[in-house]
Amino acid sequence: MKFNDFIKELCDAALFYVSVPTCVCCKERLLRKDRGLCQKCLDTYRSIKTDFCSICKKPLYECSCTNKFLKAHYVKKLIKIFRYVQRDPLPTNNLIYSLKRDNRRDVLDFLTNELADSIRNSIDSPEEYIFTNVPRRKASIQKYGIDHAELLSKSLAKKLGGEYKKLLISKSRKAQKKTAGEERINNAEFTTIKNSPDLTGKKIIIVDDIVTTGASMGNCATLLRGLGCKNITGAAISVAYKDEIKKPDNSDRFKK
Ligand SMILES: [Zn+2]
Ligand SMILES: [Zn+2]
Repeated sequence: MKFNDFIKELCDAALFYVSVPTCVCCKERLLRKDRGLCQKCLDTYRSIKTDFCSICKKPLYECSCTNKFLKAHYVKKLIKIFRYVQRDPLPTNNLIYSLKRDNRRDVLDFLTNELADSIRNSIDSPEEYIFTNVPRRKASIQKYGIDHAELLSKSLAKKLGGEYKKLLISKSRKAQKKTAGEERINNAEFTTIKNSPDLTGKKIIIVDDIVTTGASMGNCATLLRGLGCKNITGAAISVAYKDEIKKPDNSDRFKK
């Protein structure tokens, strides 16, 4: 073992015993080998992951089907790990809640590995892609101290050998009233960064936590398209929309 690796291992061990993490789902104390979930919840997680896409018939983590909205907004593929079902406590959902709120390294690592596997299943040469993210609202960043989609996107880029670029920012400080339909609201919610680069000929993966209707991701993709990018792939931990065949499971978006 290299000296640096040894130091890192030592720091990780120290950090683990200081923080004594618990399972994000059942709150049992974790063992050092665990990442976010205890063995029991991990088994449940794995069984939820076997859910199939009703369009392509593959398990969701191998499926890259999109929905109508995403297709109309230049997102050719949507890579995901599992379906969001509003029922608690589910280890799948609790991983997402924890990612949004807790800034836990083990949860980030776990979800990075899972989504990286899904990405490798669906595209060749992920190292050729630029990774970016659907930006979190400023008010949520202030509340939780992190933009979890940005952390996830950076972590995926590192894992898969791609490059991370921050390309989009959120304009709205407050949650906007959801009365006029999410699509129209989100059109005004994001913008590209100042002096944004020319993306002509570039391949982009845009990362988010949950895709509910595809409105946020689709609107971000439209902005990237405006920078010249024609090859846009979405990657989300979870999808909550119906596959156009399958009925939704009362899947209201998790409140930010
Ligand atoms: Zn557990
Ligand atoms: Zn599919």
